[in-house]
Amino acid sequence: MAHLFIPGPTDVAPEILAAQNRPMIGHRSQAFYDLFGGLQPRLKQLFQTGHRVYISASSGSGLQEAAVRNCVSQRLLMCVCGAFGERWYEVALANSVPTDRLDAEWGQPNTPEQVEAALARADYDALAIVHNETSTGVENPVEVIIQRARAANPDLMILVDAVSSLGGVDIPADDWGIDVLLTSSQKCLALPPGLAFASVSDRALQRAHSIPVRGWYFDFVQLEKYLVEKQSTPATPAISLLYALDQQLDRILAEGLPARFARHQAMAEQVGSWARQRFDLFAAEGYRSKTVTTVRKTQPIDFKALNAELAKDGMTIADGYGRIKAESFRIGHMGEIQPVDIDLLLAAIDTFLDG
Ligand SMILES: *Cc1c(COP(=O)(O)O)cnc(C)c1O
Repeated sequence: MAHLFIPGPTDVAPEILAAQNRPMIGHRSQAFYDLFGGLQPRLKQLFQTGHRVYISASSGSGLQEAAVRNCVSQRLLMCVCGAFGERWYEVALANSVPTDRLDAEWGQPNTPEQVEAALARADYDALAIVHNETSTGVENPVEVIIQRARAANPDLMILVDAVSSLGGVDIPADDWGIDVLLTSSQKCLALPPGLAFASVSDRALQRAHSIPVRGWYFDFVQLEKYLVEKQSTPATPAISLLYALDQQLDRILAEGLPARFARHQAMAEQVGSWARQRFDLFAAEGYRSKTVTTVRKTQPIDFKALNAELAKDGMTIADGYGRIKAESFRIGHMGEIQPVDIDLLLAAIDTFLDG
């Protein structure tokens, strides 16, 4: 039974949790090289890339930092349509990366037209965008934005945060031409928090080589060297989490990516039609997330009391995030959650609302 209907961390299957309970091995041992090397082919399948997927012992924010430090030599255009785009903008500023912020109204997506116009205003060599804005429940039209942006500037690096959608929504890194596609372990991948992943294109790696100061912990050049030459990482990896990842990748690929995407889509439709009946949706029509639904509070609701009631059945949902906390709440439907779990959750919320 699913418990966490929040946009991360999500429930982890008991056998995946148990996989962590194996003896330590040294990260400069053959046993580790076999484990680490064996993850690459399946990670590439998951990211739909022929390039490489780096694994970092951090949360996704670490790789937000990596992307802007390794891939921007001149100026970054940062698309913002909610709290996580805003976070990434702050990450860029904190790393002294020259960045312009391109805002969409919260609830609306960043649009291809808006991006095209912004690219014409200044010389950018990178564009960053959040695929699935977890605060507002908006899915950005990333594929079309990339097409239009590349038409305007073929050399533009494209950096995509898919922290709350990769593994639940179809985001083919190579087909769309994404240079850095990053995600965290604790959302759609249904792993414990503590790992982050990024697929990195050859172009992005070349760009990294041309940037003199990239930091140390998230340096793509170092990560590449250790991955290729040693099947390992520069610093000590989170070995227990890698055991869990090893098993969870098999579980994800056994379900099949198309089936996994269809399941997330189906759950979004379930929650969406319920929310339209009882409240309204925060995200604009046509741009609604498949992994998290942000419900607009069109009637007064005691959110704390609702969650306390749900907790009696071991379930929990998420309050609104950031500046839209008062006007919204969120239901996560990602990871290993099944449509039957959503039925149970929505029935419990209905009982509370009608009771
Ligand atoms: C959760 C989230 C993040 C932050 O990820 P951490 O793993 O907590 O660092 C960034 N972007 C989006 C879209 C998210 O949903």
